Amino acid sequence: MNPYPRRRTVTVPVGRVLLGGDHPVVVQSMTNTDTADAAGTAEQVATLARAGSEIVRVTVDTKAAAAAVPEIRARLDDAGLDVPLVGDFHFNGHQLLRAYPETAEALAKYRINPGNVGVGDRHDENFVTMIEVAKEHDRVVRIGVNWGSLDQALLTELMDANARRAEPEDAREVMIEAMIQSALRSAELAERTGLPAERIVLSAKVSRVRDMWDVYRRLAARCAYPLHLGLTEAGMGLKGAVASTAGLAPLLTDGIGDTIRVSLTPDPGAPREREVEIAQEVLQALDLRRFAPDVTACPGCGRTTSTLFQEMARDIQAYLRASMPAWKEVYPGVEGLRVAVMGCVVNGPGESKHADIGISLPGTGETPRAPVYRDGVFVGTLQGAEIVPGFQKMLDDYVVARYGDGPRPEDARVPLPTSG
Ligand code: SF4
Repeated sequence: MNPYPRRRTVTVPVGRVLLGGDHPVVVQSMTNTDTADAAGTAEQVATLARAGSEIVRVTVDTKAAAAAVPEIRARLDDAGLDVPLVGDFHFNGHQLLRAYPETAEALAKYRINPGNVGVGDRHDENFVTMIEVAKEHDRVVRIGVNWGSLDQALLTELMDANARRAEPEDAREVMIEAMIQSALRSAELAERTGLPAERIVLSAKVSRVRDMWDVYRRLAARCAYPLHLGLTEAGMGLKGAVASTAGLAPLLTDGIGDTIRVSLTPDPGAPREREVEIAQEVLQALDLRRFAPDVTACPGCGRTTSTLFQEMARDIQAYLRASMPAWKEVYPGVEGLRVAVMGCVVNGPGESKHADIGISLPGTGETPRAPVYRDGVFVGTLQGAEIVPGFQKMLDDYVVARYGDGPRPEDARVPLPTSG
């Protein structure tokens, strides 16, 4: 399933997950716990993994954090979760990876920021130390450039060269070029140190959407390493979700990007896994991957003054998402199901016929009956109090009939949330 020609890249194995090549775009996320708290971090990794994060990154910034990583790995293994862990290193990664070989082994990938590995001679020395550790443990490295911590020596070098040109580029162009060169020069040094291209992933994160498009398009044209896409510091809530989507979608439809992360600043108390849901929704909206059935619902208008269809669409969506962990085990392909819950006769029957199963609720002034369609064919009407439970039963029956011989959905049923 990929409607867009993919950029050709090498394939990189991150634990059991394959990045690049013809492999699907991978969803990843990052914890915000103190990694030194092994129990708390393992719990959050597990939550993210169960929500669909296929790789999870943890901060490794102190000796205590580094020392906790093997226990985090063990706790996940005990829980039957083989989600690969990535260590996020800045400033002291060369020391921590050398001092904690069990941590180097427990991590599937090391994220190295070339802007934060030291200055002068130390820069290459520290970077090479981490590459040597990656070689010894046969681990993957993500060379993760970030414009907030861009290698200042490289930026100054390019700025000076630009100033000597007859027609200098503007500062934004130089910054983008510096990010690309920081990633590519670091990858070249990693390969010269003996790390194969099949163990290198690149990223170049900025916090503005148009800069993201430019930096990744140019980077993609100049290398065959898999690319980790993300808009850094995307922001909170709706703003972060929209900015991330705007940043990711044009690149993904150009075939650029092998793994994505939505860097959402969570609202206080909001679930961390929201960033995973958004990443999945982006890939699903672009028809790049399927994670859960789609529910098509109209926005409502003056033709429907009741809130029933909105509540029903919301509840059916929640029911499908909650059912997926059990359903995907016994009904292979059920994530491709398309459901429609529509508000009135104008577009309701049409959308319902386009869906696998759909219902068109009665708008204001219409006969209080809701026609249901399966595979484009009218199969009956529901009315009154039977509309919600009746449609849920028809949905369950459709899943059984279409997706397999497993137990009926009742066996794995999650109660439909109550409306209103
Ligand atoms: S389907 Fe009906 S209720 Fe929904 S937006 Fe269209 S006209 Fe309005």
